[in-house]
Amino acid sequence: MSVTTRFAPAPTGLLHVGNIRTALHNWMLARQAGGRFLLRIDDTDAARSEERFVAALREDLAWLGLDWDGEERQSARLALYDAAFDRLRAAGRVYPCYETAQELDLRRKVLLGRGLPPIYDRAALALSDAERAAKEAEGMAPHWRFLLDRAAPIAWTDGIRGAQQFDPAQLSDPVIRRADGSWLYMLPSALDDIAMGVTDVLRGEDHVSNTATQLQMFTALGAEPPRFAHEALLVGKEGKLSKRLGSLSGAALREAGIEPEAVAALLARLGTALPVEPIAAREALVATFDLASFGRAPAHFDEDELARLNAAILHQLDFERVADRLPEGMGRAAWEAIRPNLAKVSEAADWWQVVTGPIEAPVLADEDRAYVAEAVRLLAWGPDPWHGLTEALKAATGRKGKALFRPLRLALTGRESGPDMAALLPLIGEAEARARLERAATT
Ligand code: GLU
Repeated sequence: MSVTTRFAPAPTGLLHVGNIRTALHNWMLARQAGGRFLLRIDDTDAARSEERFVAALREDLAWLGLDWDGEERQSARLALYDAAFDRLRAAGRVYPCYETAQELDLRRKVLLGRGLPPIYDRAALALSDAERAAKEAEGMAPHWRFLLDRAAPIAWTDGIRGAQQFDPAQLSDPVIRRADGSWLYMLPSALDDIAMGVTDVLRGEDHVSNTATQLQMFTALGAEPPRFAHEALLVGKEGKLSKRLGSLSGAALREAGIEPEAVAALLARLGTALPVEPIAAREALVATFDLASFGRAPAHFDEDELARLNAAILHQLDFERVADRLPEGMGRAAWEAIRPNLAKVSEAADWWQVVTGPIEAPVLADEDRAYVAEAVRLLAWGPDPWHGLTEALKAATGRKGKALFRPLRLALTGRESGPDMAALLPLIGEAEARARLERAATT
């Protein structure tokens, strides 16, 4: 059977690593099975949904390489929801309620005070037609609840959590529609999953009890429910991630110089039994994706781990992948020489400046100045000038190790450390190298 997954963000804010993780996992699940990955914009909350967030999330998904095979918007599908609502209402599965938020809150508090679970008491279900008419005559518009079937437990085999069972008597009938006619996400989501042929719903474990009620919606709508899997939430080092979300949006990560490959490598494996490794090749991540490897404990997101992974990934990236972000004139050989020293692509400019100059002349001790003067005399250009030079100096001066290399690196780059000199020296070029050595020998 073919697999169809979806990512269904509400465009009420920027995507953060938690949402990105859900998107990535759904994408991997689909790609591994050769199936489809759909994007669904959950914009039924017209007041809080914004077009700029739709644009931002599309940009983030594209940046991450999470291509989608179809896109829907809930705001364009309201007629479908209305029709289903009418059917469910005719079948007695949705009913109007008139309680105010304060009334409901008070009832909840009373129940909690008596040590009882705060389950909606279905008082509105008991209203007579006359009572309802009276409320409407007073100008009260109802909100609507889905009537749960309490005859049998709700059970499913969760792709991550295994056998799940809920007693529907312990659940409140969910509100599916507000008094102003707007939709809460649950029924539209089930309807869309049916219409879009979604076979697998993979989402955060904050949705587990929603799944219990949505399973009954699928059945009430005469549809076979999809498979469900709920992953443990992502938490930050200091607990909840929500406080830091602004700095963990796709755009913020991008601006901080994090590569999409690093984000994917971390989020693909975090919270699973598989090790987090700097895997840049997406196919390799997809091939090892396995819901059975997901743990039940919260997954810990650590920005330092992301930064380390980013560096390790960068060291593998091809010139073509980064060329448009490198300074003018910096070619493949320079990228390959400099790459091992970078934590971010933007740092390449700094090293390219070291190659092209000017560099600050280092101040050397007297004996090192004499040594560098010797280097000027012995410098001979060839296919491997660095080894030629250091071998000749070793033979001529008896120096070795740090004493042999450090003054040369300082004279040639102005730095104590950096990329492999054997790769750097040919990039600096003979004339410039000679000039730098001469200057260091005489300053
Ligand atoms: N828009 C819902 C959310 O972001 C979708 C949940 C789901 O995946 O079903 O929570």
